[in-house]
Amino acid sequence: MKRSKTLAILVGGIFFTALMILYWKLELMQKTELHFGEETPLEHEADDLSVLRQKIERLERLISDNNRLVATLRDSILQHKASMKIGQGGKANGSSSAATGLNTKLPGCQSAEGTKATDGVQLLDVYDLLPFDNPDGGLWKQGFEILYEGNEWDKQPLEVFLVPHSHNDPGWLKTFDGYYQDQTRHILDNMLTKLTEDSRRKMIWAEISYFSKWWKDIDDQKREMVKRLLKEGQLELVTGGWVMADEANSHYFALLDQLIEGHQWIQRHLGVKPRCGWAIDPFGHSPSMTYLLKGAGLRDMVIQRVHYAVKKHFAQQQILEFLWRQSWDSSPHSDITCHMMPFYSYDVPHTCGPNPAVCCQFDFHRLQGGRVFCPWKIPPQQITEQNVEERALILLDQYRQKSRLFRSHVLLVPLGDDFRFTQSQEWDAQFSNYQKLFDYFDQHPELHIKARFGTLSDYFETLHQRLHAEGTTLPTLRGDFFTYADRDDHYWSGYFTSRPFYKGLDRVLEAMLRATEILFSLTLAEIQHFLGQGNLVLEFPAHEHFQRLSESRQSLALFQHHDGITGTARDPVVADYGTRIFHSILNLRQVLQSSAHWLLLLDKSQYHHDKSQPFLQMDDMILAQDSLPQKTPLKLSDEPRTLIIFNPTEQVRTSVISVVIDSPDARVINKETGQPVAAQISAVWAEPRQASSEIFQLDFVAKLPPLSLVIYHVTKAPISSSHRAQYTFYHQDNLPTNHSEYFRVLYPDGSKGDDPLSLSNKHFQIWSSTETGLLQKLRLQSGEVHQIQIQFLWYGTTTRADKSGAYLFLPGEKGAQVYSSSEPPFVRVSRGPVFSDITSYFKHFTHRVRLYHLDGPAGRHLEISNVVDIRSEVNRELAMRLISNIASGNRFYSDLNGFQMQQRQTLSKLPLQANFFPMTSASFLQDSVSRLSLLSAQSQAVASLRSGELEVMLDRRLNQDDNRGLGQGVTDNKLTASFYHLLLEDRRGAAQKVDGSSVEHLSLLAHLTSLNLCHPPITMVTVSGDNLPKLRPFLPLDVSLPCDIHLLNLRTLEDTQKAGHPSQEAALLLHRKGFDCSSAPDLPLTCTWSTHEEVDLDDLFFPLRFRSVRRSGLTLLRDDDEPESALQQHLPRVAFLRPMEISAFRVEID
Ligand SMILES: [Zn+2]
Repeated sequence: MKRSKTLAILVGGIFFTALMILYWKLELMQKTELHFGEETPLEHEADDLSVLRQKIERLERLISDNNRLVATLRDSILQHKASMKIGQGGKANGSSSAATGLNTKLPGCQSAEGTKATDGVQLLDVYDLLPFDNPDGGLWKQGFEILYEGNEWDKQPLEVFLVPHSHNDPGWLKTFDGYYQDQTRHILDNMLTKLTEDSRRKMIWAEISYFSKWWKDIDDQKREMVKRLLKEGQLELVTGGWVMADEANSHYFALLDQLIEGHQWIQRHLGVKPRCGWAIDPFGHSPSMTYLLKGAGLRDMVIQRVHYAVKKHFAQQQILEFLWRQSWDSSPHSDITCHMMPFYSYDVPHTCGPNPAVCCQFDFHRLQGGRVFCPWKIPPQQITEQNVEERALILLDQYRQKSRLFRSHVLLVPLGDDFRFTQSQEWDAQFSNYQKLFDYFDQHPELHIKARFGTLSDYFETLHQRLHAEGTTLPTLRGDFFTYADRDDHYWSGYFTSRPFYKGLDRVLEAMLRATEILFSLTLAEIQHFLGQGNLVLEFPAHEHFQRLSESRQSLALFQHHDGITGTARDPVVADYGTRIFHSILNLRQVLQSSAHWLLLLDKSQYHHDKSQPFLQMDDMILAQDSLPQKTPLKLSDEPRTLIIFNPTEQVRTSVISVVIDSPDARVINKETGQPVAAQISAVWAEPRQASSEIFQLDFVAKLPPLSLVIYHVTKAPISSSHRAQYTFYHQDNLPTNHSEYFRVLYPDGSKGDDPLSLSNKHFQIWSSTETGLLQKLRLQSGEVHQIQIQFLWYGTTTRADKSGAYLFLPGEKGAQVYSSSEPPFVRVSRGPVFSDITSYFKHFTHRVRLYHLDGPAGRHLEISNVVDIRSEVNRELAMRLISNIASGNRFYSDLNGFQMQQRQTLSKLPLQANFFPMTSASFLQDSVSRLSLLSAQSQAVASLRSGELEVMLDRRLNQDDNRGLGQGVTDNKLTASFYHLLLEDRRGAAQKVDGSSVEHLSLLAHLTSLNLCHPPITMVTVSGDNLPKLRPFLPLDVSLPCDIHLLNLRTLEDTQKAGHPSQEAALLLHRKGFDCSSAPDLPLTCTWSTHEEVDLDDLFFPLRFRSVRRSGLTLLRDDDEPESALQQHLPRVAFLRPMEISAFRVEID
């Protein structure tokens, strides 16, 4: 009774509030309209149609707001009902209080946190526990002696699956094409012949990049043979990704994209669905990858490269097979069965059992006379009638020992190595000798072993059956497997940074691909409205563009290979990847420009596609695969130059757009409103202290609606009418300075030189050293002064024989040396109305910190950029360190693939290099009152070696090989840029416990800041000249998406009938991010977030309409589509988006 009354009052209250808000909004809009009327320039007033259109658009927006309000109302009622139910059940639940405002925390965040792991294995605890003493384990050097009685298998025989595999790197010592020509195509050709000869033979294959290339080369008859082998279960495609991806440096966008590319290819050409994951060579493993695999419908997986001490512990505990669960997941929803290989390597000596000297004798490719031999000096023997018993028993002993490390009597034994099974003799040697051994086992039931060739599915199916029958459950595990060490103190933390130029370029391609995918999909949707208008539609080269998109997807996918983005390939191979990426960026630019052109045209009949003379061009040029982009100077006149800005994010944003012009004075107006926008003219520096007198930098403030194309006009302005930056030069020595006629330059005299160098905006103030320009202190306007010092460091390499290389980081015994230069750097301070910055010119790098004089998120962070050149150095690595007074202890957080945050602990029992972790996009330190987040635009190694400190590696130049097969050092360094946003935030609730294994997320502000850093606006320029067709801005969304929902991609799918053509269907990928409850933005964010998991997709993307929506698996396989009824017909289309989860929908946009 009392409850229903409360409900009635609540609903009434909400309804009244909603009405008031609506009324207020209406009034506000009318006022805005009046305001518009007064200020609209003459030419617009005449344009009645335009005014009418504006009114309609505003009305539409009003309807959208209405929808959202109604949705909120409905949500509130739903939530209240739910809380009542829980209340009646006598259970307290914190989630109900959020909507009614009783919770002091940020509403909505409770659903993303509170998932502290209590059950199962937590890898952080394992690291606490282990001594890392590396004792000699005997025959199994990194392990222990395995004992067995011999009667363990009497009741239930040992069931062995020998799984033949060939590890084909899509680029490493040779390029992708080089390997394909020399090895891979022969391997696959032989596979067809050799598997067909005997139905007992099996094989698994992982890399779809190679498989799809080979498919193009074979005829229909062979293709049928492949399909038959798959159907019969002799051949299994494992993982099904384009490559076996790196799991440290790859961003989850690219990890998923390469998986989609592979799975879509498999679906189209083979009609099968991968079930098992196979990742035997990536240098450490991330749960983000397992999340994607599970979401793509995989159930089981195998990993290999895990720290030897962790492997030993897992073997001792019999937990080498476990259910890998996401740290943030309190349900088994994300679990995937994982098999960790117990020994040193995936080659034959390290897979049959603990003794490599014995196992090597069962690699029949190493039979005497071959090119490969056994380093343990006992060669294999052909299996004959004479020796079969002796050989079989030796092998059985290894199998039995290995089996003791697992909970079941089913045993997985991989059989293969890099680029194995190239020649038919090798196939014969392996298959015939093993078959003789298997036959012997079959003839001797007293041995209690059944052995055969198998695929991964064969193994896991039997494993699950056995576990089920015995009632055995596998333990759950949370955490990740970084940082990998394969022996001694050889930690693989070097590759987190190696070839940083390409790690940065990877993310440029990634952002460009995402932006182009989205705009292309929106263009195809728009074009449908013009269907039936003949040539109008035909002119848009959808097919050609789709080809370009596909190729670019494949370039990005290829680079995610564990010798690609890792920076562990030979120099020419690196250049090959670079060239592919470079061409893809150029191709994507064409697609983006062409799509934007179509969308912007008022009269679509004016669309013409001319490749040689595109209507739009980018505002910059990239000249080669290994060079940084350069802005193209714009020629200005009294006639306006048209700039088109694309905002690739799903949030409305205020951004500073930077272009280079040929005039020191310019005026920028928003073409729609006719209003001038805030702008600043800065010098373009030919030399650190010499401003160009020909070209100038124009920065203006653009307000960009979500996913919009906005039009700006730039014209030459009267002399001295523009706001120009002012400069201060520190360390003005006797070097000549070209006094700029356009800019005021101050030289602080000796006495003033000691004044603190300080910059501030509305949100914070910074102080830097007048000597170096480097940051020293930061104060939020709300709070106290924080010490946040920036320092640069050199790491050298050890004096021992094993030195740092592409994979390994083996720093010198003294650790890092603070970077110092014989002469102080030249420091230039720039102050302007749009931004102010401090630039320090050191010999090896140019460092700049900049703050923006903007409201909203864009004004909240400090932008840091480094342009590094260490080509003159020998065996050195350059790092940037932040030293703060945050009491973080030995704990900090770094992201895993940009998908989730992982707590890290710095352990003194481990060497320095073990305490470096991969950082794809974010890292933070915190104590009870503050959090310092470093957001990055590229992947690199990160560490927090002392409390309050955070450091990232910028570049490494190493003059020797580190003995992992590459055979060279890393000396192809480039001029390399890296970009960061630094964010200091207050934390709410001083009593916040910073404890062991709690799950933490970025704050909402950090999420927004990272989104803006990784997806900058894209600036295009129309060709100069008159007779420009009429353009209008493209505004696909009325309002931003909630700020915890990220539009990961809107990816046009291939037509099922016409190969290589785009379909009307697109993959809509939404990621609902978890966010921190304790960081409270003191200023309201521009976006909202929901406390509910339910989201109405039509409402979310209004005014876009979906003709159909169907939830699917993460790789959009048709098998994974939800049945038609679910979302297809019913309106509203309510979808559940759980915090932290990625949701995939197959959609058709109306
Ligand atoms: Zn490999």
